[in-house]
Amino acid sequence: MPLRRQRQTQTSLRLLLLFLLGSGFLSTTLLSYHASRDSIRDSIVNTELPLTSDTVYSEIQKDLVRPILISSMMARDTFLRDWVLAGEHDPAQVTRYLREVQEHYGAVTSFFVSDKTRTYYQARGVLKQVRPDEPRDLWYYRVRGLREPYEINVDVDMANADRLTIFINYKVLDYDGKFIGAAGVGLAVDAVVKLIDEYQQRYERSVYFVDTMGHITLTGTQGGPMGAKVGDSLADIDSLSELLEKLPTPQSGRFEYQEHGREHFLNVRYIPELEWYLFVDKQDQALTDIRHGLYLNLLLCLMVTAIVLTLVSLAIRRYQHRIDALATTDSLTELPNRRGFDLLAEQALQEAQRDSIPLCALLLDLDHFKLINDEHGHLAGDAVLRRFAEQLRGALRQSDILCRWGGEEFIVLLKNSDRQAAHELAEKLRQHCAAQRYPVSDKTLQVTVSLGLSQWQPGESLHALLGRADRALYRAKQAGRDRVCSDN
Ligand code: GH3
Ligand code: MG
Ligand code: MG
Repeated sequence: MPLRRQRQTQTSLRLLLLFLLGSGFLSTTLLSYHASRDSIRDSIVNTELPLTSDTVYSEIQKDLVRPILISSMMARDTFLRDWVLAGEHDPAQVTRYLREVQEHYGAVTSFFVSDKTRTYYQARGVLKQVRPDEPRDLWYYRVRGLREPYEINVDVDMANADRLTIFINYKVLDYDGKFIGAAGVGLAVDAVVKLIDEYQQRYERSVYFVDTMGHITLTGTQGGPMGAKVGDSLADIDSLSELLEKLPTPQSGRFEYQEHGREHFLNVRYIPELEWYLFVDKQDQALTDIRHGLYLNLLLCLMVTAIVLTLVSLAIRRYQHRIDALATTDSLTELPNRRGFDLLAEQALQEAQRDSIPLCALLLDLDHFKLINDEHGHLAGDAVLRRFAEQLRGALRQSDILCRWGGEEFIVLLKNSDRQAAHELAEKLRQHCAAQRYPVSDKTLQVTVSLGLSQWQPGESLHALLGRADRALYRAKQAGRDRVCSDN
């Protein structure tokens, strides 16, 4: 097979192997990655986050929905309204009323602010007068202008050591629907905050509440997503800002987003009683881990593929060398055969051409060799051929090219030798052969050799050079054998 075809076949084999190994490894690695990814994602999205959301929701209902009911009841209470409309004469009456509400429902505080007198009543008596220029009283003026019946305000409670408290500020209207004050209760959100903290620490998920304007309304003690505080807007948090586009239309659902290359799963639930969203967010470490696992697997596959390809290439190269050697060597004499000779001779001719140095060809043919085979057997003939080849090689220079041309014929290319030197060497070889004895079994054989010599002429082909040597050999045979003849 020509060298180029061999190379192409080897390259195709390597590419096929690369394709098979690569596609095999890739498909199994990617399939297993996707399978584990899907199952982790499925369990987070469909089980873990909704469960957290349910638990937090039921807790928040206890903490928040109850105070709304209590405050609504206070706003509709006829005693309170009658007492205000009658001129707020005896503060002890309303104070007792507020104390009753607070103690009975376990609230942190209960209050009523009269619009007429701007007096802030609470369970322990009159707290103060509200003023529009006092920042802490701003809530009251906000409630006054409210279109809805109430608002929820998470704030620190001045009357309770600044504890984080949810105030329900309910508008109180008289029997004609005119605003006469604000009443309500305040409840600590300890239970919800504790739950949020627990989820954040134990399960690495973040739980927080957001109002319809996208502002964070309630978080754990450590704050909200990326350390955001109550009052911060989601719009200011890079990775979450896109989510805001989907709000404020009440929309519950699942969302996924990336934060610094890490995957987040988010469960959003709208709580109509509060007009808040409950966000349960899980940054998925397991997915990050399996992605790292995937990279490691791919690296291993790449290494295994590279090792297998290298080993296969080495094996191919070794076998190729062996095959090449077998294809260019004669098995009996271990000299190059015609194919091997062609490669070496072509190179020698190019060197002679390039360096303008003389080159001679010698064609050797053992005389009456057929007789040796006939009289002593083919094996004896083989032994003679082997021995003759060894002697020939021993008599030549390392740089000379020797080959078994076929049968009992040999060729020698003498580099850097002119006709004179070549002739002398040919004569020496002839004499040496004639003097040689070949012990075979119990006999000693003798053989002579005829030689044809030609000198290479610049520009001449190998074929022409050997043709002239062959003609010289023919003349040597014709002239009686055991002699050297030179072409022209
Ligand atoms: P000539 O002097 O004219 O060259 O006579 P010859 O007998 O040497 O020439 P011929 O071409 O008639 O015969 C060559 C013989 O060489 C015939 C063949 O059996 C023998 N021969 C060729 N190759 C081998 C070989 O590998 N081993 C053996 N034992 N004999 C071989
Ligand atoms: Mg012959
Ligand atoms: Mg012969």
